[in-house]
Amino acid sequence: MLSERGRKIKPSPTLAIDAKAKAMKASGTDVISLGVGEPDFDTPANIKEAAIKAIKDGFTKYTAVGGIDPLKDAVIEKFSKDNSLEYTREEILVSCGAKHSLYNIAQAIYGPGDKVIIPSPYWVSYPDQVVVNDAVPVIVKTYEKDGFMLSPGLLEANITNKTKAIILNSPSNPTGFTYTRKALEQIAEIALRHNLYIVSDEIYEKLLYDGTSHTSIASLGREIKEKTIVVNGLSKSHAMTGWRIGYAAGPKEIIKAMTNIQSQSTSNPNSIAQMAAIEALKGPQDFTDMMVREFNKRREFLVSELNTISGIACLKPTGAFYAFPNTSGIYGRSANGKTIASSSDLAVYLLEDAHVAVVPGNAFGDDGFVRLSYATSMENIRRAVIRIREAVNRLK
Ligand SMILES: *Cc1c(COP(=O)(O)O)cnc(C)c1O
Repeated sequence: MLSERGRKIKPSPTLAIDAKAKAMKASGTDVISLGVGEPDFDTPANIKEAAIKAIKDGFTKYTAVGGIDPLKDAVIEKFSKDNSLEYTREEILVSCGAKHSLYNIAQAIYGPGDKVIIPSPYWVSYPDQVVVNDAVPVIVKTYEKDGFMLSPGLLEANITNKTKAIILNSPSNPTGFTYTRKALEQIAEIALRHNLYIVSDEIYEKLLYDGTSHTSIASLGREIKEKTIVVNGLSKSHAMTGWRIGYAAGPKEIIKAMTNIQSQSTSNPNSIAQMAAIEALKGPQDFTDMMVREFNKRREFLVSELNTISGIACLKPTGAFYAFPNTSGIYGRSANGKTIASSSDLAVYLLEDAHVAVVPGNAFGDDGFVRLSYATSMENIRRAVIRIREAVNRLK
């Protein structure tokens, strides 16, 4: 008999549509996937070499649970250089991916009855990580007109004496939008006034366009830094999703609890991947610049094409590698006797009829949108846009 926790947990919905697309591909259908959540670039050669060297040097045993000191130092240097944030080794934890850091945070600070504010559209794992730790997600909607930034008024209205934390994600998956410094200052002020923690997922920090700059909310002052756990990693910035290295920085007591939790679950992150991560952080960064230039071309093309399709309206995202068009203008139209009434209906229709995989917005808590990833070749994006246009035009 499963525990209540075992029954409550749901599989990641982005993986479900991916499974269906893969099944169609396996049976010979030419499916173009705009569903993926990882860079389509290979991990840079210098990073791979560092891993090969680690293997040859026999760096293949258990390490310190929270990551080796040279990696913690590289992370500390990154925070200092990129975010003007100064940390010590006791304030850093290296985990098996940023998702694992986020899970350790959930275990360390959420408890029965605690409420955690999650702005929607949200990354799919946030609410479930809150739920499996017996706390309650409080979903607060954000709007296109506000650039998908949490409104201070709505935030304040949703805070009770049970509220423990706010989860922020900028640049955002799925919207591709970025919080301004001013918006973060307002949120920080409210969080401090109500004594709330901020969990700040900054994994897309390096993927920014149109001169947009990234601000870490922890960098806004000494007080807010003491209430913030910053999460980051190498999966997106260095095309290292499979290596499983992410990290968290925050107050000593919290990092210590997270490290203890990690010591009872995974132990240290992979020793070889830790050596690769040092090279990723300290080696040349031109790979990331090249990737951002390439993503930018695709972003420009995809967004402008989407806006020429009837019923679709797409704001231009400033970060990450997703377009998040408003598709509610399509709802109510139908084809072959089937009416498209929701983002899932649209995603199923596009997959079955156009052989294009996208992720329905309801997976992220907003049914008015779908998410298209442009972490795929320009050629695929071109073909996909043609197919989407034709499929939408078939709807009456
Ligand atoms: C990809 C992603 C992560 C997880 O990254 P890993 O380091 O691979 O675990 C975390 N947050 C968001 C918003 C992401 O898109």
